[in-house]
Parts: sequence; C-alpha cells; structure tokens
Amino acid sequence: MTRLLIKNCRMINPKTEVEQYTDILINNGVIEAIKKDIEIEADEIFDASHLIATPGLMDIHSHIAPSLIPICVNPDNAGIETGVTALCDAGSLGWKNYEEGRSLIEKHYKTDVFHFLHLAPEGQVQLPETGYDELDIDAINRLINQNKDQIVGIKVRAVESSILFRQYDIFKIAAEIAHSNRIPLMIHLGDHNHKVLTSDELYQATSNILEYLKAGDILTHAFTSAPGGIIKDGKPIPRAKEAICKGVLLDMSPGLGHMSFNVLQSAICQGIKPNLFGTDVVLLDSSKEFLKPHFYSVSVIASKLMAIGLNLHEVIRMATVNVAMAINKSSEYGSIEVGRKADITLLKIIEGRSMFHDGGCGNVIHGNKLLSPQWVIKSGELYKVNKEFSNHRVDPMIFQALMERQGGKKNG
Ligand SMILES: [Zn+2]
Repeated sequence: MTRLLIKNCRMINPKTEVEQYTDILINNGVIEAIKKDIEIEADEIFDASHLIATPGLMDIHSHIAPSLIPICVNPDNAGIETGVTALCDAGSLGWKNYEEGRSLIEKHYKTDVFHFLHLAPEGQVQLPETGYDELDIDAINRLINQNKDQIVGIKVRAVESSILFRQYDIFKIAAEIAHSNRIPLMIHLGDHNHKVLTSDELYQATSNILEYLKAGDILTHAFTSAPGGIIKDGKPIPRAKEAICKGVLLDMSPGLGHMSFNVLQSAICQGIKPNLFGTDVVLLDSSKEFLKPHFYSVSVIASKLMAIGLNLHEVIRMATVNVAMAINKSSEYGSIEVGRKADITLLKIIEGRSMFHDGGCGNVIHGNKLLSPQWVIKSGELYKVNKEFSNHRVDPMIFQALMERQGGKKNG
C-alpha cells in the first residue's frame, strides 16, 4: 500500500454539506487529511484540477452474480469500471443460492457488493420467480444473521405472478422478515407483461402493498409507466403520499424501460422526488452493447436527473450518502472524511447540449451537462474508468438505433 496525494480537486461531500477546493491525502487506503496545499512526500501525486471528487458512487439497484444467474454482470464491469465503488444487488439471489453467489463475488472482484436477498429461494434465476411454495423463514433469518455485513435488505417484485400467488401473502411475509431483521424491504413496481390482472387491479395491488411498508423500505422503479407503479395517469395512487410521508424511499432505477421521463416530470411537479437511483444493470446481449453507458452508468443517470431539473449536489447526494443510509452503512460508506476508507469518484462535467432517452418509454429530453466519471479510488487504489463510460457522448445515432430496435414503441 502507498501514500496517494490528490491535488486541487473540487470536493463535494453531501453528507457533511462541504464543498471546497482541496487536497486529499490517502495513506494505506485510508483518508489521512483533507486540506488545501498539503506538502508531503507521497508515492503518487495526482493532479485533480478540473475534477470533482465525490464519495465513491454507489448503485442501489444492480444485478451482479456472474455465472450463477443468466441476467447478471461482472461486479467490476458495473462497479469500478464505471466509477462506482459499491453495488447493491437487487434480489438476483435467494436463500438457496446466496452463499454460492457470495463466495464467487468475494474471490474475484474489487468493487464492494451488498445484497437485497430475494424471498424466492433462487432469486431471479428465472423470471417470473419460482419456488415461493418452498418458503423457509428460518433458513432466511439464519442466512441474514450469518451475513449481516452483506445482506442489507429483502427484495420482492410486485408483478402479476407474485400478486396472484395464493398460498400466502408474499408481500406481507417479506415485510415481516425485513422488519424483524431491521433491514429494508425493496419492492419492484410495474408489470409490463401482465396477462390476467387488469391495469387497475395492478395499481390496486400496489396500493394494498404500501400498507405493509415502513420508513426506510424502498420502492424501486418508482417512476415506471407500467401498470402497478405509484403514479397513475399523472397522479399518485391511493396511499402513495401516505407512504412517502411515512419515510418510504423512492428509487428511480431505470434499467432499459422502468422509468418514464413523463411520469418522473409529473411526479416532481407534484413534489414527489426520487430519494435514490441506481442502474438496474443486467447483461445485455452483444447486439445491444452500445446502449450500455447510456442506461447502465450511475453518472449518465445522474445527468438525466440534472436535465429534468435536479441540481448537482442533489444527484451526488442520491448516489452516495442516501444509498449508504438506505442500506444502514452510512458509518462506513457515502462520505469523504478523515479516518474513513478512501472510496472516491473523480468526475468531469462536460458542458454542451446532450440528448437523453428513457428507453422503453420512448421519450427524449435535452440537458446541458454530462457527468463523466474519469478515475475512481477504491480502498486507496487509483483506477482509470473504462473509456466506454468516461467518454460517453450522447449521440443522436444511439436514439435512432434504439427506436428502430424497439420497433417504434409508444410513449409512456
Ligand atoms: Zn432489477
């Protein structure tokens, strides 16, 4: 391990509400000093003039169990290569395959990984989930207790197959398990593929589920246009405002079609803002690789939120300390402070008109700033961000190709 001195960065640290031009000295992976004009012998001096230093970006919603779950990606591809130092896997694994998944990830990757454990025994190994009839609450509780460092929540999806499951109320049980273990329940909202329930029935089901939630629980894809979201025809569904007042958190993880700019804009106009966002990164087939930076980069999604009207400090807060707080890790993650592990993202703001797309919903907006990750410091080690992400230019050709591939899907 070495002594690394970051010179002249613009540090934005939402947790302590500090913004300052400063140097940051890192020693053996730990932040040793934050002040101007540090003059000291260091093994490496890095000139960060013109770069913004934020706490290491965190992704509240990813899918990262390589080789075990078909939709999952390699944690470092979604993590340090995109400027992200910690990822939360959103229910890829359940109690039957969690231990195998954890051991695979721990052996090979640098990015920190946390898990929302799925209530379905094998998580999202296939969708819709199967195996709910094998519920073993003791096994789930045991696993949570044995892995308190990494299991930070429970996940279920409010989709037709789960809502129609008759053996027990999946959402009530999931809430009980999460709350008795003092961890949040994350609920996926929206079902694009419903066949039995009507749209109204899906919205009603979501409204019923909201009753089970407590402060700190998370509604993921909260700004979806699919039936079963919390915004219907531009207005919040019954109990949505109550849930928000109670402290239920709204996560705007978009994936390729789980966030509509129209829904998000109308929610924000009514005072309903996201608390969190992640990527919902999954493995793309190689024919869609070109879409990756646009949809699966925390920084590009932050840029989309800025184009909608949120400010730089808000979006950095949402991707750092808010995630750390949501998973009960804010004493270790989400802040740049002396004595803490040195997880820092170095970003550049690229000025100029950018186009942003919301994927499956087919809407385009324009912004004038693109947050571009350049370097990332993980546990004191400096890494260059993958060019695909750092140089990402929002090219009109992307949208042309996207629309063609979607077959001209309607607005949402
Ligand atoms: Zn997901």
